[in-house]
Amino acid sequence: MTTDTVKQFHFTGSLTKDDSKTYHPHTFEVPAGTTNIHVDFAFTPFYATGRIHRNQIDLSFNDPDGIRGVWNRVKAEGADINGIYSTPGIGSWPIQPGTWTVFVAAHRILPPDTVTYELAISLSDEPLTIVAPQYDGSQRVANANHGWYRGDLHAHTIHSDGWWDIPEFTAYMRGQGLDFVTLSDHNTVTGLAQHRSQTEDGFLAMGGMELSTFNGHMLALGSSHLYEWRLNITEGMDINRIMKQVIDKGDMLIIAHPMSVDEPFCSGCMWQFEDARPGVALGVEIWNEFWHPFNEEGLKQYYLWLSLGNKLVATSGTDIHHAPPPNIPRRMGYNVVYAESLSEQAILDAVRKGHLYVSGGPELLLTAEMASGEKAMCGDVLPAGAATISVKWSSAHEGDHLRLIVDGKVKEDRPVAPAGEQLWSLNLDEMSWCTVELRDEQFDLWAVSNPVFFGEGWS
Ligand SMILES: [Zn+2]
Ligand SMILES: [Zn+2]
Repeated sequence: MTTDTVKQFHFTGSLTKDDSKTYHPHTFEVPAGTTNIHVDFAFTPFYATGRIHRNQIDLSFNDPDGIRGVWNRVKAEGADINGIYSTPGIGSWPIQPGTWTVFVAAHRILPPDTVTYELAISLSDEPLTIVAPQYDGSQRVANANHGWYRGDLHAHTIHSDGWWDIPEFTAYMRGQGLDFVTLSDHNTVTGLAQHRSQTEDGFLAMGGMELSTFNGHMLALGSSHLYEWRLNITEGMDINRIMKQVIDKGDMLIIAHPMSVDEPFCSGCMWQFEDARPGVALGVEIWNEFWHPFNEEGLKQYYLWLSLGNKLVATSGTDIHHAPPPNIPRRMGYNVVYAESLSEQAILDAVRKGHLYVSGGPELLLTAEMASGEKAMCGDVLPAGAATISVKWSSAHEGDHLRLIVDGKVKEDRPVAPAGEQLWSLNLDEMSWCTVELRDEQFDLWAVSNPVFFGEGWS
């Protein structure tokens, strides 16, 4: 490395609790011919004084053309940005000369600490000798047949704050017997080509991104587009514009874990946008990880939004970041989707339509039939009138309860056998939507269907 072509920049800063949920930009000039940008970052104290929680900071980067990516899990060895193989989370394309910006994102600074940080940037013009692995990131069909497929719509790897790489992640998920798994790392899409290359007969690896703001998280499922997630970094980039960019690209937009435990356990995890409840979101993740009390609150929130006239899809996501400890029973909820094939487009088409139920094990099929013979499955809309609602379930447990929910209220709750069928005759003139739940003897959820909708106004 020749010294006259190396540039270094050094920035320091201090943060207190009042800086939580703010970005601190530092800019630097990159000359033509730069081949690598090395970033070192450290802050202290790492763990908040007197607490088990750490102060939480990450870095994101803008090159002269826009967003370059995020360095989510800051490590001592630093990060590299270049045109061949950047640190996971950060895009790999040739370095553009001009003004670059590092955004120090103070997610959580806990009192009484004053956190000090040091940021060092080193530019190099040496030819790169690294070789990037090549992946076929095209979307392929894993099974051409229509049918019910079970899978996950939310997970993380080392491309953001997960602890495992993509082969470890997909090997674990294959071992769970899933038909499809979605990679949705925080604020980056750098893992998607490798992830999609894991698709094989009977196993579909799907793409997405979790837009993780300081006040709520969203899943954008479908494309490989790197969305802006940072509120107000660009003038006027409020939550509604951030959500609309996902809709405009045609991706499936889901509010993740809306009622999650928030500070200091999980910074920015609860949905707190008062002007986007639910905004232009198409779905709500009502079962995140295992069945926490906050999921019960999320399900209530979902029912409330439905009752206010929002036709939203209920989904689940393991939000898994690493292999869970063995032998600890955890009731994860999976999406069971009726799709035309096991392909990314068909699964997402079915999810958009609400052709799915969410389950920790049992099968739960909700259908409706009108006197005219018109039929519907979960997610569909029927006109008003008299209809018969049918529920078939199996693989449930002795003592489980079946609940009929109409317009958000429990209309009926009865203990049922592990398998069976139940019919109800309902007058749809008097209702807007209905769904069914299976719960255990403690009333914790086993499964919930997407609703059938009735009458005008649902689109
Ligand atoms: Zn999240
Ligand atoms: Zn997540």
